[in-house]
Amino acid sequence: MAKKIIVIGSGFAGLSAACHLAADGFDVTVLEKNTVPGGRARQYAAEGFTFDMGPSWYWMPDVFEQFFAHFGKKVSDYYDLQRLDPSYVVWFGPNDRMEVPAQMPALEAMFEQYEPGSTPRLRQFLAEAAYKYQVGMQEFVHKPGLSLLEFADWRIVTSLFRLQMFTSLSKHVRSLFKNEKLIQLLEFPVLFLGATPQKTPALYSLMNYADIVLGTWYPMGGMFKIVEGMVALAKELGVRIELGQEVSLIATPNGHATKVITKQNHEYAADVVVAGADYHHVDKQLLDQQYQNYSEQYWQNRTLAPSSLLFYMGINKRLKNLEHHNLFFDEDLAQHAREIYTTPQWPTKPLFYVSMPSKTDPSVAPPGCENLFLLIPVAPGIEDTPQIRDHYYDVIMERLERLTGQDIRSAVIYKRSYAHADFISDYHAFKGNAYGLANTLLQTAFLKPKLKNRHVDNLYYAGQLTTPGPGVPPSLISGQVVAREIAKKFGP
Ligand SMILES: Cc1cc2nc3c(=O)[nH]c(=O)nc-3n(C[C@H](O)[C@H](O)[C@H](O)COP(=O)(O)OP(=O)(O)OC[C@H]3O[C@@H](n4cnc5c(N)ncnc54)[C@H](O)[C@@H]3O)c2cc1C
Repeated sequence: MAKKIIVIGSGFAGLSAACHLAADGFDVTVLEKNTVPGGRARQYAAEGFTFDMGPSWYWMPDVFEQFFAHFGKKVSDYYDLQRLDPSYVVWFGPNDRMEVPAQMPALEAMFEQYEPGSTPRLRQFLAEAAYKYQVGMQEFVHKPGLSLLEFADWRIVTSLFRLQMFTSLSKHVRSLFKNEKLIQLLEFPVLFLGATPQKTPALYSLMNYADIVLGTWYPMGGMFKIVEGMVALAKELGVRIELGQEVSLIATPNGHATKVITKQNHEYAADVVVAGADYHHVDKQLLDQQYQNYSEQYWQNRTLAPSSLLFYMGINKRLKNLEHHNLFFDEDLAQHAREIYTTPQWPTKPLFYVSMPSKTDPSVAPPGCENLFLLIPVAPGIEDTPQIRDHYYDVIMERLERLTGQDIRSAVIYKRSYAHADFISDYHAFKGNAYGLANTLLQTAFLKPKLKNRHVDNLYYAGQLTTPGPGVPPSLISGQVVAREIAKKFGP
């Protein structure tokens, strides 16, 4: 009889772990509290609009291709990818907007415009980033991070300096470029990793390689197509996915998980449990105290990635001057970052991001309409009230209208806000975090919360709060890494 694996949560990490474990011959059941799979990447429809609720940037297409290839499939078996050009646009002020072209010659020409003579330095920067991407994605992200010894190989130790683990991304970028707008462009991708460029190791210029060289893509129909593809694959592999089952307890008599129990009063026997739900929730809410991996103090001392205030909006006219991805950097990033990380509070003058997928994809909005997704990064764990959300809606919409030169508010026919309280109720997110734990130096690799419970011999964790970190590609890899550890120990 195949060993039974219970996976808690149907986010990318849970679905990835489930697919790998089913392919390894385990009997896998995924339990998901929500009625739609995909976790933070769920989708919903309202008033003729279709909204992706979380991720909107499809980066590192090679990771998705490798994921499906592991099962003899291709991305194109499940969804149709388009490369965006321009990749995105950055606004620095009224009439001051930088369109970031997808093709290298056009990008070099743009760098020359902002900083004459910068092409050789851009090439050097990207060549180093390519090396980091290759080593980072082939070596580091696939390590389980259980022990420092995994990194004690001379090749890796010597590469740490070339990988620039011990200098910050900000210093690295500033050593090569002087133009503030180019610096912001090169510093922006690491914001995805949940920390500032000053706190992020320069290793993560690998994200610039992902951005500039590998490109920004979009699955037609929305990011949820990835979830649909993974669910279809999981079912082909024999995984059962039970929606609307919220795990309330992992039974661990004598340090061995035997079953999980859901709020809906179902019991599921388990030989191994993979917790793909938020780590803190699993540790603190689903386990007896003696089996918890970390203390509350430990969690309070972690640097979380930001939470977000989001608005999903339907607009009953076409909008000008907006691309698929739009970053508004017209205010001071340093101050906003301080208000996220140093003195957590609602931002005085927030930077924000607007996605308008209807620019690329007619299926996400009715004809003649636009689909808008607004995101303001904010500190986790701060007060979240309807009044605060309304205030920021006005602040951002006023700026968006002024910068893009059009009235938008009077054309809004659908609007929904989403912030801390929703992240907590929908995903049990610690402090209402949106995307997990920040990738600071002290929260990298073996210094992240471990993917294995120390007191329960058959309980593992996957997802954006453990190795390798936040984002869709790392979550996919996290599921793969945890499945490999389980197969080593419990496989045939
Ligand atoms: C607003 C936003 C924008 C983002 N943008 C991007 C982007 O553009 N590109 C990118 O790469 N990444 C982006 N991210 C990050 C990315 O979406 C996440 O890192 C990734 O989806 C996390 O996957 P996961 O499987 O770790 O967690 P989750 O997706 O949160 O999955 C965990 C699942 O566990 C379930 N669960 C929780 N508790 C229980 C329980 N007790 N019982 C059963 N089930 C439970 C939850 O409902 C959830 O479905 C974004 C995230 C957010 C929120």
